[in-house]
Amino acid sequence: MNKYDVIIVGAGPGGIFSAYELVTNAPDCRVAVFEAGHSLEKRRCPIDGDKIKKCIGCKSCSIMSGFGGAGAFSDGKYNITNAFGGTLYEYIGRQKALDLMRYVDGINMEYGGEGTKLYSTAGTEFKKICMQNKLNLLDASVRHLGTDINYIVLENLYAFLKDKVDFFFDTPVHNIEVLGDAGEGYRVNTEAAGYECDKCIVSVGRSGSKWMEKVCDELNIPTKSNRVDIGVRVELPAVIFSHLTDELYESKIVYRTQQFEDNVRTFCMNPKGSVVNENTNGIITVNGHSYEDKEKQTENTNFALLVSKHFSEPFKDSNGYGESIARLSNMLGGGVIVQRFGDLIRGRRSNPKRIEEGMVVPTLAATPGDLSLVLPKRILDGIIEMIYALDKIAPGTANDDTLLYGVEVKFYNMEVKLDEHLETLHKGLYIIGDGSGVTHSLSHASASGVYVARKILGEL
Ligand SMILES: Cc1cc2nc3c(=O)[nH]c(=O)nc-3n(C[C@H](O)[C@H](O)[C@H](O)COP(=O)(O)OP(=O)(O)OC[C@H]3O[C@@H](n4cnc5c(N)ncnc54)[C@H](O)[C@@H]3O)c2cc1C
Repeated sequence: MNKYDVIIVGAGPGGIFSAYELVTNAPDCRVAVFEAGHSLEKRRCPIDGDKIKKCIGCKSCSIMSGFGGAGAFSDGKYNITNAFGGTLYEYIGRQKALDLMRYVDGINMEYGGEGTKLYSTAGTEFKKICMQNKLNLLDASVRHLGTDINYIVLENLYAFLKDKVDFFFDTPVHNIEVLGDAGEGYRVNTEAAGYECDKCIVSVGRSGSKWMEKVCDELNIPTKSNRVDIGVRVELPAVIFSHLTDELYESKIVYRTQQFEDNVRTFCMNPKGSVVNENTNGIITVNGHSYEDKEKQTENTNFALLVSKHFSEPFKDSNGYGESIARLSNMLGGGVIVQRFGDLIRGRRSNPKRIEEGMVVPTLAATPGDLSLVLPKRILDGIIEMIYALDKIAPGTANDDTLLYGVEVKFYNMEVKLDEHLETLHKGLYIIGDGSGVTHSLSHASASGVYVARKILGEL
């Protein structure tokens, strides 16, 4: 059958929760999901840390693509907040955004997440301690599923959906055609065939950013450039941050630098976690995750320190700027570079001997090097300032042996012009999740999927 009521492009959280909401509420609705990557059980990153230590650039990156999207092997930190993770609330309102995030959290609990802990900044002493040290702790509730439970939730969701939805894995969509006049539907073309639908939901995430730009160009959908976040991943002994992570799990802290008044912020904190490579369009950057299962936990905690860069006329290619910096680190290090904080402030590169002699055992096999040859001075100065600021609330952060991996880049899709229903100027064509530039998190992406599905359900 080549005709559907709804076609969803991309099987990340946005696509999955659109499909879930549609088939749960309208069992007769014919839904197809096209996914460039593999089915969940076939997703496997070849880096085994033994024979293969570095990213070999697979055609379809199993970390970023496939059922579950970029979130499949993530730490499964499900943040329920409007303070970060996207600007969905600007389109649908703050309360609605929070309600949808809580609704998805409930589904995650039903499909395997039951028993996982919901942490919250509310009522803790840390807000005050941070403030006293010129640090701003953002308000949030965070459910930590962990990489393992997150995977189980995805397995269960797939088991529920597989007989109700036609899944096409390893099937990238080439382009989308508008059929006839406004509202007549769409043809979604893959290499092998074309499929028609009344409504189309595009949820291609960060890995689909280049493709998304092409589609917007072809369909004359206006876009504007978004920001890029550049920084490093910090790895240190878990005990240094344990007073914060035991109570909050993740603390999103913002520091305003004295030198340039730039904001530097913590991002994606992984207590007892591992640092990992990330491949975006062939460029190797760094990320982190951790397991709920104690057997798989490490002695270290990792988190990113990031600075946002926005560009305007005449240069608007924020992602291109981030890519160039990441390429530089790939050129110098053959991938990700690791440096001891003590080496960085003494102006010397790290070498394998110094790393080996240090207190922190790296969880990622990266190339010892010098991050000052890669990161712009202003960004690096901000990161160093913030490490000293964090040292006041978590003494030991600025130890010589603290490891910095670079570079970490958060690429944001350009922001697509959408109305309050996340609908484009083409009636029935919706763009959601990270691919829209509106969200940058599991919770916001999933919530955007439910929101659009409900809008479509109202029109069926
Ligand atoms: C290592 C890692 C850890 C993370 N940890 C967290 C975390 O703990 N908490 C958090 O909130 N967020 C985390 N994130 C971010 C989070 O995973 C994303 O915000 C979220 O997955 C976005 O969902 P999405 O559905 O919009 O897009 P994605 O999850 O990116 O899914 C998009 C899917 O579309 C597919 N696709 C792309 N182009 C096409 C095409 N042309 N045709 C067909 N399919 C296509 C891709 O293969 C992909 O599977 C992490 C990301 C990574 C990489």
